[in-house]
Amino acid sequence: MNLQESLTALDALQRKMATYNHAIGLIYYDGVTAAPSGTAQNRGESMAVLSEVSYELSTGKDTEALLDALWAQKDALDEPHLRMVYLLRKSLVELRKIPMDEYTAYQRLVNESEDVWHRAKNENDYASFAPYIDQLVAANKHMAAYVSPEKDPYEYLLNNYEEGLTRETCDAFFATLRENLVPLVQKVCASENKPDTSLLQFHAPIEKQRVLSDYLMDVLGMDRAHCTIAETEHPFTTGFTKYDCRITTHYYEDNMASSMYSVIHEGGHGIYDMGVKDEFAYTCLENGASMAVHESQSRFFENIIGRSRAFVHLIAPKLRELFPELQSIDDETLYRALNESHPSLIRTEADELTYCFHIMVRYELEKALFDGKITSADLPGEWNRLYKEYLGIDVPSDREGVLQDSHWAGGMFGYFPSYALGSAYGAQLLNQMNANSDLFAEIEKGNLEPVREWLREHIWQYGSLYTPTVLMEKAFGAPFDASYYVRYLTDKFTEIYSL
Ligand code: ZN
Repeated sequence: MNLQESLTALDALQRKMATYNHAIGLIYYDGVTAAPSGTAQNRGESMAVLSEVSYELSTGKDTEALLDALWAQKDALDEPHLRMVYLLRKSLVELRKIPMDEYTAYQRLVNESEDVWHRAKNENDYASFAPYIDQLVAANKHMAAYVSPEKDPYEYLLNNYEEGLTRETCDAFFATLRENLVPLVQKVCASENKPDTSLLQFHAPIEKQRVLSDYLMDVLGMDRAHCTIAETEHPFTTGFTKYDCRITTHYYEDNMASSMYSVIHEGGHGIYDMGVKDEFAYTCLENGASMAVHESQSRFFENIIGRSRAFVHLIAPKLRELFPELQSIDDETLYRALNESHPSLIRTEADELTYCFHIMVRYELEKALFDGKITSADLPGEWNRLYKEYLGIDVPSDREGVLQDSHWAGGMFGYFPSYALGSAYGAQLLNQMNANSDLFAEIEKGNLEPVREWLREHIWQYGSLYTPTVLMEKAFGAPFDASYYVRYLTDKFTEIYSL
């Protein structure tokens, strides 16, 4: 095959992969949203067959030969094709370095561990899960040594989720947060000027909340011809391709703000997925640069835009129209209530200010586990100690503590920092895009197009063409700097809480 033929084969291969992923994704999505209960087995069988083909497409001998041939001519490839070959080949190259029996043993360990974790969490029984932590840490270290022997194993894992991220960057990032935000949270807790959140506690009928979701998707500018919303236990987004994106939410009748911000968060993921340039459709560059960059978009819309005064001012009339309980509440009172902050136990329910502490605790513990400074036996005690130190709260049970997240049970070490980095990226992006124009004045008028335009130009269109570090540096016009995030949170909460 000459180069042109190889490139044609590469495009065809990626289109085929995208098609199988589309089909697998749709069956999954249908299963958690609309499928009748008796169809689970049939869906399972279909998914198994499709997944097998999909796995063969990404790891089979033909694919390997094609990618190796293209890699051998990498100097002749244009930038997008070079990146595609690199990304598609990466997992293959890594897989080659790990002995097959160790790889399958690891998959078995993860399955078993997830199973035990479910039970352990339900029964608040950390002791039964603890041995899996040590085994998973050891296995991950072992595999890191095969794939990247020159690298620190924990840094290797960080790179699996955020390409190019170093321990040094992470350490500096969390140190800046610790130094500046621990005192800020303490002041917020001691403040006499707390927002009144009782006004948000009323019965909000689900049909009214559905109307609100549609309204919010319109405000965000989501193209409803290519994106729809459904209801699931846990909200999520799945962008099968740039032309077919689905988001979900969960309605609580006693808490309308929960779904409201889920829709804005998932909407942020959705418009990012749909915003990639057309020429990257049906390729591996289609789905965003990384998990942290994805979170930077969803959290940007949820918190920086969605919890801003301007946005609350924009949507308040609609909220009053739908929920008579809010009719006598003025915009400022509503804004304050939606920005209430208090230390809490559960990461997924944490507010904008305290969220990063949940991540900081997990980062420090992961590092200590991989450095051999602690073992699973020390984990609950260390967890509880750090929650007390950073958030000033006592953890009453492991179920509400060290057992709450599924990530470690699934062997996903190094994943958590992405969440906090995403929030911090958002603050630095705001600084860049607000430099030449007052975006919030436009948002207040209901015009989010300048925000979308900026993000489309600097982030969305590129998909995963660049590493997250390079992409963000281009967008920032400078290296990543956590002080923008610290300043953003400090200014916002100092004002709300009259500190
Ligand atoms: Zn998200």
